[in-house]
Amino acid sequence: MPLNVVIGFFVFDCDDAQALQNTKMSETSRFQLTNDHREYVESWGMNRGSLSYVYRPTTVEQIHDVFSLAKKSGLTIALRGPGNSYGDAAMNSEQIILELTRMNRVLEWNPQTGLITVEPGVTIRDLWRFIIEDGWWPPVVSGTSLVSIGGGAGMNIHGKNNFKAGPIGNHIKEFEILLPTGETKTCSREQNSELFHAAIGGFGMLGVFTKLTLQMKRIYSGNLRVNAFATRSIGEMNEELEERRSHSDYMVGWVDCFAKGASFGRGLMHTANYLEEGEDLSPAQTLRVSSQEISDMLFGIFPSKLMGKLMQPFSNNLGMWGINTAKFVEGATIGDKKTYLQTHCKFAFLLDYVPDWKHAYKPGGLIQFQSFVPFDRSERVFTRQIELSQKLNIIPFLGVYKRHQPDDFLMTHAVDGHSLALDYPYNEKNREGLKFLVEQMARLVLENGGRFYYAKDSLLPADIARAAMGADRIAKFTALKDECDPERLIVTDLSRRLYDGFRK
Ligand SMILES: Cc1cc2nc3c(=O)[nH]c(=O)nc-3n(C[C@H](O)[C@H](O)[C@H](O)COP(=O)(O)OP(=O)(O)OC[C@H]3O[C@@H](n4cnc5c(N)ncnc54)[C@H](O)[C@@H]3O)c2cc1C
Repeated sequence: MPLNVVIGFFVFDCDDAQALQNTKMSETSRFQLTNDHREYVESWGMNRGSLSYVYRPTTVEQIHDVFSLAKKSGLTIALRGPGNSYGDAAMNSEQIILELTRMNRVLEWNPQTGLITVEPGVTIRDLWRFIIEDGWWPPVVSGTSLVSIGGGAGMNIHGKNNFKAGPIGNHIKEFEILLPTGETKTCSREQNSELFHAAIGGFGMLGVFTKLTLQMKRIYSGNLRVNAFATRSIGEMNEELEERRSHSDYMVGWVDCFAKGASFGRGLMHTANYLEEGEDLSPAQTLRVSSQEISDMLFGIFPSKLMGKLMQPFSNNLGMWGINTAKFVEGATIGDKKTYLQTHCKFAFLLDYVPDWKHAYKPGGLIQFQSFVPFDRSERVFTRQIELSQKLNIIPFLGVYKRHQPDDFLMTHAVDGHSLALDYPYNEKNREGLKFLVEQMARLVLENGGRFYYAKDSLLPADIARAAMGADRIAKFTALKDECDPERLIVTDLSRRLYDGFRK
């Protein structure tokens, strides 16, 4: 006799639950489109927000239910992790959001091989905490550890080791994806390979990752050996990146976008290397979770939670000029050519040190513009981007520079070259100017064979985004969208803005 199970709002039959897998989903849903599911959802950059119906399933069956509800009610669904995309990539105004943060279980872990299978809501933070004491580390991490594996795969995130390790997709062995048709597919490089290469980096358009298997990276210490030094120009930064890429595991640069004249383009660079086996004399200690944890107190005195608020008075051109200048001077004097040991967390997740640092940008919020340009043109394009920003007096408070390599994912953002990620304050006063600036900068990128990253986008004009992606890639992706989501159930504000929701 079938057993009826009640979990929260859901009632489902265990025998039927099994049958739901790989079958067309039922047209009925136990979910209701009620006001208690309406929530205000904000982009990470706080530059936009809207009301949506939000559902947080804990099982695959419940995901089926949300799709049934969407069909029944004629609404669309956006997939969302913890929402660390800067703009509208995981938003769906006045429609449904399927948030996968509660599907956050580690399903299998093999400490001998480093293979791990997780649900999509497991975050990078959950992951490193789970594996580090066995001597493993996630092979690719973003600047914040709060990103989920599902959301990271959706955007095919990159780290400061992109030039060497590629994006996270390079380390995904296999995933299960639930399509809006109701079918579940297992994908790897060998099985359903086309879907594998399109869904990774497919900005959540083709289906829901429900289970992912990844290869972790073996480490022999909880510390990295870090080298810090100053660079006088973007050209010099490019030269250093080329010279050091064969013998560095990580490389990242910071550019002072306020500097003018002879100081224009100056910055600081950090490279880091894993320690070899035997180099760390007490690996069991440095590999402890507690050795990696980031302190709640900044410099041992300020509660880091308050830093966002404390920084608010400096959140203007003058304040940020001061902070950028001080950072360069300190780095170019006390910190120049220093080598030191630093934990993986401190090196990788600097921004997590100051929770809510983004609140310094309130009330307007911020946008990030990250473009990727081939190595022989990056100096010219990025110089021009900073010059244009200075000319319009809309100056990025932060500029982060990285070296990249191409990858074989369909909707890729990477090139054989460099990226510059620019953080701009966004407010009533500069809104129109910023839109104009982004369009000018984006056109330059397009003319020079560059690409864009949807995880960081808020203002890209659709014609430029599409031209950079190329008609051929878009046609292939749209054909897959036709197969996986013929009814166009999955739509986000970003896909509406850049691809007209892949309207048929
Ligand atoms: C401070 C900060 C630093 C950052 N640094 C970096 C960096 O160094 N490198 C980098 O690459 N990015 C970086 N990012 C961007 C971030 O890594 C990406 O936006 C990432 O995709 C966010 O993941 P998320 O889990 O929060 O997902 P969300 O932002 O909620 O969603 C991201 C995308 O994935 C889709 N999606 C979510 N879950 C699923 C699922 N289960 N199945 C299918 N699709 C799904 C969504 O529809 C959306 O398109 C940074 C962001 C912040 C805020």
